[in-house]
Amino acid sequence: MKRKFLLYEISWPEAKKYFSENKIAILPVGSTEQHGPHNPLGTDHLIAKAIAEKVAEKTEVICLPVIPFGISGHHRQFWGTIWVKPETLRNYVRDVCLSLKYYGVEKIIVVNGHGGNISALVELAREVRKEGIFMVVFQWWVLAGKLFPEMFNREERGHAGAEETSLNLALYPHLVDMEKAVDEKPSWLIKEVEGLNLPLDTIDYTKSGVFGISKTASKEKGEKILEAIINKLVEIVEWLKRATPEELASKDLADLFI
Ligand SMILES: [Zn+2]
Repeated sequence: MKRKFLLYEISWPEAKKYFSENKIAILPVGSTEQHGPHNPLGTDHLIAKAIAEKVAEKTEVICLPVIPFGISGHHRQFWGTIWVKPETLRNYVRDVCLSLKYYGVEKIIVVNGHGGNISALVELAREVRKEGIFMVVFQWWVLAGKLFPEMFNREERGHAGAEETSLNLALYPHLVDMEKAVDEKPSWLIKEVEGLNLPLDTIDYTKSGVFGISKTASKEKGEKILEAIINKLVEIVEWLKRATPEELASKDLADLFI
């Protein structure tokens, strides 16, 4: 049976009906990159897709196919990682947004599954707002850290760590091999200093591709996080549905307020 909230499952007359009545859409974006020896390369886009599609179902907002490639050059030494340049991602997502705008969409929720994509997506969101599209960018792990501060510690929240692995266990257990899970303390080549950004790749820190602890992952924890994330994102979508064009529009030049 067709799921009417998935753009790739409906026909063009069905899309016409949706876009004539709704100005909002959900776009999952992720990456295809190493996630340690125990997680699939698709982790970031698979998680984004699952969250986005669940939220779409609950809110009756159309969901686009997931964009599976992102800014992952810093993982390239691990086989199978595919990466695109920041400007490529920005341009690609911009074109997707402009296609949606052609059908009247003015509000887009980007469910982003990969930390490396954040700056490019946020930059783009500012840009397209000037063209009449209000795009919000959502990261599940940031919210998970706020909602469940006690569930995982800092070492378990790293790349391919227990938190991310737990979501995979909840969503795609057949793709996770916990027997291959490793705990690896990242080595700091240069002393970590507050305010300093280093041009290092993942391989400079870890041999396995795991940042920290992954063995404490569990399906139950993943399910708990997912449920809470989805509920919160449903609230965000409902808020965005209600927001008026005036509230979201890019503002005019400032004038003296006195
Ligand atoms: Zn990831």
